[in-house]
Amino acid sequence: GKPAPPPHVAMLVTPGMGHLIPLAELAKRLASRHGATATLITFASTASATQRAFLASLPPAVASLSLPPVDLSDLPRGAAIETLMSEECVRLVPALTDLLLELKRTTRLVAFVADLFGADSFDAARAAGVGRRYLFFPTNLHVLTLILHLPELDVSVASEFRDLAEPLRLPGCVPIPGPDVLMPLQDKSNPCYKWMLHHAAKYREADAILVNSFDAVEPEPAKILRQPAPGHPVVYPVGPLIQADGGSGSKDDAPCLEWLDRQPAKSVIFVSFGSGGALPTEQMRELALGLELSGQRFLWVVRSPSDEGAVNDNYYDAESKKDPFAYLPEGFVERTKDVGLVVPSWAPQIKVLAHQATGGFLTHCGWNSVLESLVYGVPMVAWPLFAEQRQNAVMLSEGVGAAIRVPESKGREKIAAAVREVMEGEGRGAAVRAKVAELQKAAAEGLQEGGAAAAALAEVVEKWTGGEC
Ligand code: UDP
Repeated sequence: GKPAPPPHVAMLVTPGMGHLIPLAELAKRLASRHGATATLITFASTASATQRAFLASLPPAVASLSLPPVDLSDLPRGAAIETLMSEECVRLVPALTDLLLELKRTTRLVAFVADLFGADSFDAARAAGVGRRYLFFPTNLHVLTLILHLPELDVSVASEFRDLAEPLRLPGCVPIPGPDVLMPLQDKSNPCYKWMLHHAAKYREADAILVNSFDAVEPEPAKILRQPAPGHPVVYPVGPLIQADGGSGSKDDAPCLEWLDRQPAKSVIFVSFGSGGALPTEQMRELALGLELSGQRFLWVVRSPSDEGAVNDNYYDAESKKDPFAYLPEGFVERTKDVGLVVPSWAPQIKVLAHQATGGFLTHCGWNSVLESLVYGVPMVAWPLFAEQRQNAVMLSEGVGAAIRVPESKGREKIAAAVREVMEGEGRGAAVRAKVAELQKAAAEGLQEGGAAAAALAEVVEKWTGGEC
C-alpha cells in the first residue's frame, strides 16, 4: 500500500528569536535525522522582518504558520515581557485549537511541543485531541530546576529572593545569590511572578521536557533531572542546538568578517548583548573606555542605550532605533580604529564566534549566546542583563568555570581586567580557556550519532512514533 506519511510535529514558538532559533533547529534535526516534518506556530505580535526572513529560509520539511493577532491593550503599560507572552498564549488557545485540528486533518501529527512561556497551549492540544504534549525549554537545567521547585519555594521563601541572606541552594545546582535569581521572580507583587508559578504547575502536565543544554556544562542537574521523579516530567538534554549554518548570509555580514580576516588568531574579543539587550548610557561609556584600556582588539555590536530601567527595550524588535554611535565617548572610534571595529545593532554572531581571529566573547549570557560560544570554543566574559542571564553568569563563572564575570560596579578598570584575563591571563583566564576547549569537545561528541544528546532525541522520537498520537 501507500507508504505512511512522515510523522509531523507541531511546535508553538513564543516571541523572541532566542526561542524561535533553537526550536527551528530542533525541527530541522527531527527532519534530517528522523525523517519527520514540522510546523512552527508563531505569534502575530512578533512577525518582524527578521523573523519572516528566518522562517522563509527554513527547509521545506519545516513549515510555519502564524496565529491571529491578539489584543493586549487592556494590560497595564510596562507589563513584563513574560506577562505579555503568557497572556497572549492563553488568549490564543481557541485559535490554536482550530489550527491543531486542521494539522491533525492534513498531517500525521504525532506530538505537540510548546516552548517555555507557551505551556498554556497544552490546553489547546488537549482540546484538539493531541495526545503527546512536550515542553521545549530553550535555556538550561539550572533555570529549569528553579522553576520546577518554584511551588515549594513560594511557600518556603518568605522574603523577596534578592533579600535572601544566603545563596539559593537547589538539588545539583550551583548556589545562586538572591539578587542573581531569575529576574521575573524578583518581585513577588508583579503579575509576572504569578505567571512563573503558573507555568511551573503547567510544566508538570508535560509528558517530558526537552532542554537545550548538555551534560558537561551542568553535570549534576543533568544527573538528577534525567531520572523520573514525582513532581517533574523526565528531562532530556538535547543540546546544544544552535543555528547550524551560522545564520543565512547577508551582504551586511561582510564588513565584520573581512575585518576579522585581517586580525591575528584568537586576538579579538567579540562584545554583544544579544538580540535585545541595551546598556544604560553610563555603562556603555565605561565599557568603551574599558575595552580601550584592555589593549585587546575588539568587535563591538553597539545599541542605543536604555535609561528607563528597561534593559530589554529592543526585545520585540531587533533593530536599534536611534544612532547608537552618538552615545560613545568623544573620540573613541577614532582612537581605537586600529584595534577595534564598532558595528551598529547586529552582527553575524555565529560566524564571528566561529572565526579564527575571535578569542573571547563579552556576552550578556543569553543562553543561545552561551551555547554558541561553547560550540566554537570561545571563553566568555559575563555581563548579564535580564531574564535568567544573571544566574547563567553565576553558573558559568562559579560553577563550570567557562567565564569570568565583570564585577557589579562595572567600572572601566574592572572591565579591562576581566577582558585581559579571559584573553591572555595566566591564572583564572588560562583555566577558563582550557575548560571551554573541553566543553567544546563534549558538545560536539554529544550531538554525534550515539552521543548523549543525539540518543536523547532518538528516544523521544521513538516515543512519538510508537503507536498512535
Ligand atoms: N544574535 C546575532 N547577532 C547579534 C545579536 C544576536 O546573530 O548581533 C543572535 C545570537 O547568535 C543568538 C541570538 O541572536 O542566536 C540571541 O539569543 P540569546 O539567547 O543569546 O539572547 P537574547 O537575544 O534572547 O537575549
